[in-house]
Amino acid sequence: MGKDIIADHARWPRLEDEIFKVSEECKRAIKEKGRDKIINSTLGTLIDDDGNLIAFNSVYDTLKNMDKKSIASYGAIEGDEAYLDLLVDKCFGPYKPKAYIKAVATAGGTGAVRHSLWTFLNQGDYAICPNWYWPAYLTMCEEFDREFKTYEFLDEDFNFNLEEFTKSLDFALEKRDRVVCIFNSPANNPTGFSIEDSMWDKILDVIKSRAVDGKYINILLDVAYIEFAGDGSQKKFFQKFSSLPENIITTVAYSMSKSYTAYGLRAGACIIISSNEDMANRAFDSMKHSNRANLSNITHAGMNILVDIENDEEMKKSYENELELNRLLLEKRAKVFVKKAKEIDLIHLPYFGGFFISIPCNNPKEVSKKLKEKNMYIVANKNGLRFAVCAVSEEKCEISPKLIKEAIDEVNR
Ligand code: PLP
Repeated sequence: MGKDIIADHARWPRLEDEIFKVSEECKRAIKEKGRDKIINSTLGTLIDDDGNLIAFNSVYDTLKNMDKKSIASYGAIEGDEAYLDLLVDKCFGPYKPKAYIKAVATAGGTGAVRHSLWTFLNQGDYAICPNWYWPAYLTMCEEFDREFKTYEFLDEDFNFNLEEFTKSLDFALEKRDRVVCIFNSPANNPTGFSIEDSMWDKILDVIKSRAVDGKYINILLDVAYIEFAGDGSQKKFFQKFSSLPENIITTVAYSMSKSYTAYGLRAGACIIISSNEDMANRAFDSMKHSNRANLSNITHAGMNILVDIENDEEMKKSYENELELNRLLLEKRAKVFVKKAKEIDLIHLPYFGGFFISIPCNNPKEVSKKLKEKNMYIVANKNGLRFAVCAVSEEKCEISPKLIKEAIDEVNR
């Protein structure tokens, strides 16, 4: 290819960070007009009603009390054993699949998504994903030269669109022998949608029927928001990933970012689930190699926090209380938003938990622009708007649906 100091495969235009851009504009507006006047629905972090980032006391007291040598030292390349064991238990709760389970520490859930795309796909193979998705999936597929194919997420009745998923899976497997099926559930970003247990049965039936000899399917469960997605029963579906055929391998991208309000500590894990011990071990070997090549190892303090909390009954209780309190905060905000939206016929995708609610609309970018005139800063994606219940107070959640509806009507009349 042409002369360039940047190698062919590494040549990308500057990544436009839409969320960061709107967020900066919002900050300026807050400075100018005052916090009370502005609705900041841009951020993907938990924010209290006064606009401050929520950082759990249990987590940061644990960090403050940590021996500096444990912070400064390297962790194991694959992650510390105690961390991985406790993380696996925490992730699955009482619903651990009956299978061979291995885990590799990763820099947040991002690292686990990255490892799955790298380990289970060759160049040109497909990752398939619903069309309401976290944009970093696409960025990673571009980086590693994997194809990224989306399908309509929900059907007309707002159920998971099994038919479109099946078509997409068939397309990918007709073209190639390997596929990664990305599912960001429960509490999907950007919609708050969760796939029900009975739908999981249907999805797995489809996947099993396509797992013929010579085809390899990775089910990637991105559960970044799982701890905010229900009272614990949202983890039941994990049991379904027991005893799957050997050419189906499941990975779970677990993240400490949201569940421990530890976004910047960059800790998580890729949990591998397989009915074949050798395959689980070889996936682990591949990912450990990737760790060495890409990260060396992850933040030791992040791993230690999880271990220290899980091993201290009192701290564990106080962490669980904080988590529950904030889950309920989100639930309350979302309830208010959903109720108001219903009253004025503002259509949004079904919300079951997590940080966001999505409003489908035409011309979302223009609508988002129009909303700035109404002092609301909100992220637009291809299909609509992403309202951040994680960042907007209950009081403002109550007035937001009306503002959004007005802006949609004004832009699309
Ligand atoms: N998956 C989804 C859907 C997300 O929204 C995020 C973070 O925003 C992540 C994964 C990974 O986050 P992290 O790498 O911080 O764990």
